[in-house]
Amino acid sequence: MEIKTIADIDIKLASVSKIKDVDFETLSFGNVFTDHMLVCDYENGVWKKPSIEPYAPFMIDPSAKVFHYGQAIFEGMKAYKDEQDDVWLFRPDQNYERFNKSAVRMAMPEVPEDVFMGGLKQLLEIEKDWVKKGKGSSLYIRPFMIATGKGVVAAPAVFYRFMIILSPAKSYYSGEVKVLIAEHFSRAANGGIGAAKAAGNYSAQFYPTKLANEKGYQQIIWTDDATHTKLEEAGTMNVFFRINDTLYTAPTSERILDGVTRKSLIDLAKRENINVEVRPVLVTELVEAAQNGTLQEIFGAGTAAVVNPIVGFEYQGTYYELPKLDQPVALALKEKLNNIQYKLEEDTFGWTVKI
Ligand SMILES: *Cc1c(COP(=O)(O)O)cnc(C)c1O
Repeated sequence: MEIKTIADIDIKLASVSKIKDVDFETLSFGNVFTDHMLVCDYENGVWKKPSIEPYAPFMIDPSAKVFHYGQAIFEGMKAYKDEQDDVWLFRPDQNYERFNKSAVRMAMPEVPEDVFMGGLKQLLEIEKDWVKKGKGSSLYIRPFMIATGKGVVAAPAVFYRFMIILSPAKSYYSGEVKVLIAEHFSRAANGGIGAAKAAGNYSAQFYPTKLANEKGYQQIIWTDDATHTKLEEAGTMNVFFRINDTLYTAPTSERILDGVTRKSLIDLAKRENINVEVRPVLVTELVEAAQNGTLQEIFGAGTAAVVNPIVGFEYQGTYYELPKLDQPVALALKEKLNNIQYKLEEDTFGWTVKI
């Protein structure tokens, strides 16, 4: 895949760079942003000329629909630098497609490919010094769209703004993660917006997650809303279980987001001759496997961390601790995927795209 740049774009560069003030060794995830951002406005049915401009706050009407009706979507992806100082993206076509699927579900306009991909390429060319070399370092990319149209009337806006902001990141380590299996709260429901990266999905998780935090759990494993018997996602990540030597993960659905990391791990595991079964996984199966000693691993899968190992879970008041393994499959898969992303290993899948 080759990314074409946009011919008609306004570029206004920052007069000074903030990069000298950033300590790249002590970054906390998602708090520091680069010097520039991409902006493209949509007005009455047309996308206007995009621009790259200095990163800065902007003016927006207090009645904009994003504030009142939550019309907002986003993506999360990363850029990596190889030993030759080339910058690479990982399966950006998947993020682009998913962004527009989210847009359709939220009655927002689809963003043209040249604005999303071409704009991202041009932004990354300007910000390439912010992508640091070495495993663990990356530049987190946050494309998003908000409804900027005015009026406290509950109907879709006709004005939108698409933006891309960039945040340098070090390898993501969340500490030991214990999870609570949801018995009452739900992340998503059939017919709802769980398959979209819609902002409201995440704010709806904050309260149940806060309650879980108060009980000593970092995250929630979400179950299906109708019966709470099927294991679906872990926090804001897809989730895998290893029982004996087989990896299990639920099929994506209206309630389960189609993660790029999830599907890449499935393909990688298959290549490594690891058994993978994509099928609904029941809470009862997990509890039984924990009780009879066949449950080996649980891990979340997402762009920020690649894999996030889970050390134990609570269900119906009982805590189940997972074994401490010398060679977890989760970390072996993470290593393989990272090697492809940082161009340390041949990319036989054709997933990486050079900027
Ligand atoms: C973004 C996200 C994921 C992971 O998707 P990736 O493409 O792997 O980053 C999983 N679940 C939810 C709910 C998400 O928002």
